[in-house]
Amino acid sequence: MPNAEVLATGTELLSGDIVDTNSARIARALQPLSIPLVQITVVGDDLPRMVAAIRAAMARSEILIISGGLGPTVDDVTREAVAEATGRPLIFDPELFEAIRARFQAFGFPMPENNRRQAFRPQGSQVIPNPIGTAPGFLLEENGRALFALPGVPRELERMLMESVIPYLEQRFPPAEALVWRVVRTIGLGESMIDERLRDLLQGENPQVGLNAHPGMVDIRIRARGTTREEAAARAEATVRIIRERLQWAVYGEGNCTPEEALIVTLRERRATLATIEQGTLGLLGGRLAAADPESHAFRIGEVRTRLAAAPEHAAEAIRRQAGTTVGLAAEVLPMGENFQITVAMATPEGSRGLQRGHRGPLPHAAEWAANAAMGLLWRWLQEAP
Ligand code: ATP
Ligand code: MG
Repeated sequence: MPNAEVLATGTELLSGDIVDTNSARIARALQPLSIPLVQITVVGDDLPRMVAAIRAAMARSEILIISGGLGPTVDDVTREAVAEATGRPLIFDPELFEAIRARFQAFGFPMPENNRRQAFRPQGSQVIPNPIGTAPGFLLEENGRALFALPGVPRELERMLMESVIPYLEQRFPPAEALVWRVVRTIGLGESMIDERLRDLLQGENPQVGLNAHPGMVDIRIRARGTTREEAAARAEATVRIIRERLQWAVYGEGNCTPEEALIVTLRERRATLATIEQGTLGLLGGRLAAADPESHAFRIGEVRTRLAAAPEHAAEAIRRQAGTTVGLAAEVLPMGENFQITVAMATPEGSRGLQRGHRGPLPHAAEWAANAAMGLLWRWLQEAP
């Protein structure tokens, strides 16, 4: 397989004002293609440094994806840098010029003279259309190597990556074998417990299974290979089934889902409602549930207190009665010297449950842990209830 590199450009990335999320986005997009990303380089808006970085990358790797520097201002030098590094002149593209001008016209204002710069591209390159911005990208192929230049605006980069770059790479460098990724998300079980229950799977080679721990939650990543997509998918599916069987209630979903989303969906299915009360948690418990249920179908009241009037178990029951909901959930984070004590509790018509533990680490981490532990309690109850 070919190797790929990313060159992220922008002085703001070096000053620390902006975190380079584009490179990570590109890295994730390359994973399913089995194209190894071997290096990520960051340079400022500096022509000689960019030229050197492009030359070096093109000497090492078959694929180079450049992010940023395609704007209309003089500090956007990606076009010039690619032209110089590859020894090609920049040519004016009248069609591209028309497209850029039409875009401005559509928005009802004349095109600034600056934007004329964006109609230039290295000779022999192909335009990569930008459906949601003015900065078009380009692709340059040379000696079996491919260089892509994409705008730095994350939304635009993502669109062009998924609509143009990835389909092109899939066709140009078809993977020798198919790869399928799945992610199983769990809540309420510790990493060591999961490690114990999945020990044999974690040692497997195909599928490869790995754990990714967050405060109070563990993601299980499955990567299966096969000669065809179907074969890889079947392998991944078999492993997902085993994981679900062994972890039972702790699995709250797959792919990009959050526990609050899973909770709201399940509460609605059961026609159950929820109220929360919390202290010391940065409002995370109620805030996240509210974001997952903007129309308050299931989540009715979320109180954030500076002090709970009673122990969390009683507070959960009190808020449940006061709000008239099926379930009341309480979370409390109390400082204990350098550490924190976290208590979460849940009250239901059948009684209450809770758990408590000490926590080392910064407050935001403890707060996240508390919110997730409270959600984990509720999730478990919903899975175990008939
Ligand atoms: P524009 O036409 O908007 O100028 P451009 O191709 O010149 O496009 P940049 O000027 O480099 O892109 O960046 C545009 C915006 O995208 C800026 O707000 C910048 O902070 C952001 N950005 C640039 N590079 C990255 C990156 N690697 N990760 C995240 N955000 C980025
Ligand atoms: Mg710019």
